[in-house]
Amino acid sequence: MTTSSYPDTRLLIANEWCEATGGKTIPVVNPATGQPIGNVAHASIADLDRALAAAQKGFETWRAVPAAERAAVMRRAAQLLRERAGDIARLLTQEQGKPLVEAKGEALAGAEIIDWFAAEGMRVYGRIVPSRNPAAQQLVLKEPVGPVAAFTPWNFPINQIVRKLGAALATGCSFLCKAPEETPASPAALLQCFVDAGIPPGVVGLVFGDPAEISGYLIPHPVIRKVTFTGSTPVGKQLASLAGLHMKRVTMELGGHAPVIVAEDADVALAVKAAGGAKFRNAGQVCISPTRFLVHNAIKEEFTRAFVKHAEGLKLGDGLVEGTTLGPLANARRLTAMAKVVEDAQKHGATLASGGKRIGETGNFFAPTILSDVPLEASIFNDEPFGPIAGIRGFDSLEDAISEANRLPYGLAGYAFTRSIKNAQLLMNRVEVGMLWINQPATPSAELPFGGIKDSGYGTEGGPEAMEGYLNTKAVSMVGI
Ligand code: NAD
Repeated sequence: MTTSSYPDTRLLIANEWCEATGGKTIPVVNPATGQPIGNVAHASIADLDRALAAAQKGFETWRAVPAAERAAVMRRAAQLLRERAGDIARLLTQEQGKPLVEAKGEALAGAEIIDWFAAEGMRVYGRIVPSRNPAAQQLVLKEPVGPVAAFTPWNFPINQIVRKLGAALATGCSFLCKAPEETPASPAALLQCFVDAGIPPGVVGLVFGDPAEISGYLIPHPVIRKVTFTGSTPVGKQLASLAGLHMKRVTMELGGHAPVIVAEDADVALAVKAAGGAKFRNAGQVCISPTRFLVHNAIKEEFTRAFVKHAEGLKLGDGLVEGTTLGPLANARRLTAMAKVVEDAQKHGATLASGGKRIGETGNFFAPTILSDVPLEASIFNDEPFGPIAGIRGFDSLEDAISEANRLPYGLAGYAFTRSIKNAQLLMNRVEVGMLWINQPATPSAELPFGGIKDSGYGTEGGPEAMEGYLNTKAVSMVGI
């Protein structure tokens, strides 16, 4: 089936779905057909003011709810998300393009992340610190930072929210999200699960509109105490600067340019299956997508041949059609960007080993593309491609591969393939990334930190460390009289 119903999306303020004041909307387009499928409400400043007031009230309520009760609400929401995953996936595929099986997987993984944070919220402990004054008791208390403003992108409309929402709700913060205008219905369906699970009004809110106007208003606003953003490095730097000016706590999950180091002693078939699978998932529109394939010269030809075969075996099409393994790009901007990446690489002397062009005239379909012998000057080896394009380069020594991996200002994810523990240890210690997967595909999970270093951002969205980003630490020293 290639058609399905798709709703208009409104703003969620104090547990009520409402039109924007003034009634302004933005069209939503299906990237597989290029056709408008619905509209999303475009918030005005008056709407933001109401959402902020609700978030303040929601915070005062929610922080007073015991952690175990907060966890119960979150677990109920996760269960609803699981039950509704099939329907939500259809919305997600229609607005974003990814194959239905990936969309359903995203919703189910979202439920798991919410469950994990719900449990972690019951493990937010303070400390008792021995005092130098025997009459005094010293305590370290952990308190929720306050209402959170979250800005999330269109590549994982559900999961980019749950990693932020999970930590915020588990620590007792309220959460106001500016979700992507391109993909609004699946985020709305996610938050509906929380409303239906009985979350008090104002604890979660959802707005859409002009991203720059909304961030420019919410970040400096005194109600907002914490800012969290996932998106490109240039936008992240702007938002972090604004947050810094207003002394707001920040988590930034930004772009990456993941190196894949395939050592001379690697299992080539495993490298192609694991990194090739990761490369084309969500049409490469993933911050941890492998992008720079650094392959030892002794096995480069073998690797390239197998990688091309893998790419050419993918089934490009509408994500709603069964059997599709590669969907369209999420928006027309990405098509133009991909064509430029290929043209630039060829101009610099790279060889087009597979793909390289738009497929068809309707929808944003771009062939899975492999460029080999890519010179360092080509844009694909410098700027995050964020699409189904891989660049391959040979190396002679692992030291050279590590230098190349670390050359760019990005430091999000990395991949390595080797049968030697010595090589693995060297790579583990020397590759400058926040996440490294060795001899396996990317397996991010709620319990592991998720985040980058250098220009890829700071803070983390997984593991117990993620909770710290939403907590204030208060030292109390008390003498009983
Ligand atoms: P973009 O840089 O314009 O936008 C990226 C995201 O940031 C979008 O969700 C957008 O709505 C939001 N945004 C943009 N300006 C904003 C502002 N002033 N305030 C608040 N939010 C703002 O680029 P794009 O064309 O939408 O996406 C392409 C690039 O974005 C890619 O090259 C990639 O680097 C990056 N991106 C990264 C991720 C990620 O997971 N890290 C996700 C989506 C996009």
